[in-house]
Amino acid sequence: MPPSMTLPAPFLHRMQAFLEAEEFAAFQAALRGRPVTGLRVNTLKISPEDLQRRTGWRMEPVPWCPEGFVLQEEGVRPGKHPYHAAGLYYLQDPSAMAPAALLDPQPGEWVLDLAAAPGGKTTHLAARMGNRGLLVANDVQPRRLRELTHNLDRWGATHVVVTQAMPGRLARFFGPVFHRVLVDAPCSGEGMFRKDPKARGTWSPKLVQRCAQMQRGILKAAAHLVRVGGWLLYSTCTFAPEENEGVLARFLEAHPDFEVHPLPRHPGFAPGRPDWLQPPGPEALRSAVRLWPHRVAGEGHFLALLHRRRGPEPPPLPAPRRERLPHEALRLYRAFVAETLHEHPVPEERLALFGVHLYAVPEDAPSFKGLPVQRWGWWLGTVKKGRFEPAHSLALALRQDAFRHVLSYPRDHPHLRTFFAGGTWEAPGPDGWVVVAVEEFPLGWARRSGGKVKSRAPRWLRRWE
Ligand code: SAM
Repeated sequence: MPPSMTLPAPFLHRMQAFLEAEEFAAFQAALRGRPVTGLRVNTLKISPEDLQRRTGWRMEPVPWCPEGFVLQEEGVRPGKHPYHAAGLYYLQDPSAMAPAALLDPQPGEWVLDLAAAPGGKTTHLAARMGNRGLLVANDVQPRRLRELTHNLDRWGATHVVVTQAMPGRLARFFGPVFHRVLVDAPCSGEGMFRKDPKARGTWSPKLVQRCAQMQRGILKAAAHLVRVGGWLLYSTCTFAPEENEGVLARFLEAHPDFEVHPLPRHPGFAPGRPDWLQPPGPEALRSAVRLWPHRVAGEGHFLALLHRRRGPEPPPLPAPRRERLPHEALRLYRAFVAETLHEHPVPEERLALFGVHLYAVPEDAPSFKGLPVQRWGWWLGTVKKGRFEPAHSLALALRQDAFRHVLSYPRDHPHLRTFFAGGTWEAPGPDGWVVVAVEEFPLGWARRSGGKVKSRAPRWLRRWE
């Protein structure tokens, strides 16, 4: 944090009252230090060892997340590297890697990320699930949801349905059907003070109260969405006990069917502090975890894992109506697959057309009719004006050897810059769709005609330049 930026005085007074003098001094010193750069490897695409070997970057493991690392390099810009555009990793603070790692979703389950944008934790959940099962990613802010879909495209996530709904609406729609629910709640952001001047500027004691109230509402809806025997992980990036232990104390009182499940004690993890509440909260809240910037290499975070012991059986949900694709759409898609891919990427019974957009819906997904949906699974492309145009997400979710025509370049090749800038270059070969790759990792589509290749990189990716 630059010395000119000061921390809000009422915040410091509060923290001084909570922490012992020595710990408060260490906490303050940490907040004035430099944040670390965290990087989480996309295990859908590459192993940590392979990424490390290719980049030569020094990476220190994050104890609570085997695919997470602290980047120990000065002067590298991992967000500008073509490997980032290829979705080989996500830049994420190490503390923010804890919620998805500790919720521990399994392939084939139904998982809900209730406050998902911009998708740091959704991408983590998707990778842990190996793209199998159903992951519903929800948020309420359209701009942040756009960022979420870009991150999911880059990541190669194929089993994610993205919704834009208030949590209560999701609770009424689904009922208790999810094996795991993540509530990474909107909060007063005290844990981000070191990294984010905006968080320091907008903080106030009133904001803490407002956030606690909002969190109570979101958690109440979340409780209705967890199936019996299922798990609810609540996380915030704030230190305020009103938003952490306080919100959970009220929740546990109103929901006796949930109990706090002890989280593993990784190095640096500190217990929850029910004794900071007035009156003190239940002792079980000591099983929650506080991540402090002076105890771990990462920002401030709070996590608690709740287990639903009792509750109604999950209701049956209507399966999607399997309408046959319009003949013309199917013909165009099949022709594209025959020309561009070695085999069909998904069984045709999973194809569904929403407007002009062709999707592969997640296996066994219910109908989402009646919900505001932004993405129905794996977006394959658009059928319009007698053509099938492949989506960026189709290229990014397949391996290079799935494609018939690939232009693969080393990471520092000038044609990659041209591709990211949306430009044109020369490369002999047949006319039609071609995938551009960095080494063997797809980056997106281009269209070749008469030996001239025109980038079809989406506009949001062009910001990479
Ligand atoms: N999980 C995200 C990640 O890892 O990238 C960060 C989520 S951020 C801490 C909290 C999110 O909650 C914001 O994107 C915000 O738009 C969303 N939000 C705010 N009010 C909400 C509500 N009532 N229901 C669901 N999400 C809400």
